[in-house]
Amino acid sequence: MATAIVTGASQGIGACIIKRLAKDGYDCVVNCYPSDSDKENAEAVKAECESFGVKAIVYPCDVSKYDDCEKMVKDIKAEFGSIDVLVNNAGITKDGLLARMSEEQYDAVIAVNQKSVFNMMKHVGSVMMRQRSGKVVNLASVAGVYGNPGQFNYSASKAAIIGMTKTAAKELGSRGVNVNAVAPGFIKTPMTDTLTDEQRNAMLSVIAMKRYGTVDEIAGVVSFLVSDDASYVTGQVIEISGGLSM
Ligand code: NAP
Repeated sequence: MATAIVTGASQGIGACIIKRLAKDGYDCVVNCYPSDSDKENAEAVKAECESFGVKAIVYPCDVSKYDDCEKMVKDIKAEFGSIDVLVNNAGITKDGLLARMSEEQYDAVIAVNQKSVFNMMKHVGSVMMRQRSGKVVNLASVAGVYGNPGQFNYSASKAAIIGMTKTAAKELGSRGVNVNAVAPGFIKTPMTDTLTDEQRNAMLSVIAMKRYGTVDEIAGVVSFLVSDDASYVTGQVIEISGGLSM
């Protein structure tokens, strides 16, 4: 049985992706931030994964921490034998205009959104290279492609993820490892629930489909990218934004 890890999978897009991968037949590692509430939510996600007849575990780990990621990957490899899919989904926002953004706001977002991708790809990448197979999907954002006022830190982290995706695709391609990114637009999740009505309306006015996306619409594309149908797709950034920009 193939194994999938999704980081930050206790809610939102990550929870939906890991459940979709369970439905697709993967054994599942539900990573979550190591807080009591995240662990509780992750246990519920795990139970939903198991309802598809696969093995699932919750693994709390702050993915911004290098050593903790190394241990998590080692433990998962020991328990499951292989790591076939990695979805780097964990992310945070700490929005503010550049003029008012603090160093703490900048560093926190870079640590969770960007460094975590290095931490996970470094360790999972070496497992996949030795296996000579594997699929990685990184969660970028339209903010990393086009920029977004108030998200200097977030846009920086997501643009970096695009560069990391393309570089890793070039480094790992000959070892049978595909690395792609998805760049969601405005998706309804706890992360976007914090936006003001003014921010929401501004987003809607530039979306061709005139609606927000759903978590299932992200999970469906990830499911395709890790499937055999996408075996010759690597180093790509698939925008899932309802036509935010064309
Ligand atoms: P979300 O609902 O806030 O979920 C993100 C998850 O990541 C949360 O469960 C969060 O836990 C977890 N997380 C945060 N820091 C972590 C850490 N250090 N270690 C482990 N887990 C951690 O956000 P979402 O909307 O589902 O977003 C998922 C991904 O899609 C993110 O990378 C985001 O940037 C990207 N994205 C989202 C949208 C959108 O419109 N929603 C658009 C473009 C891209 P806590 O709740 O404890 O922080």
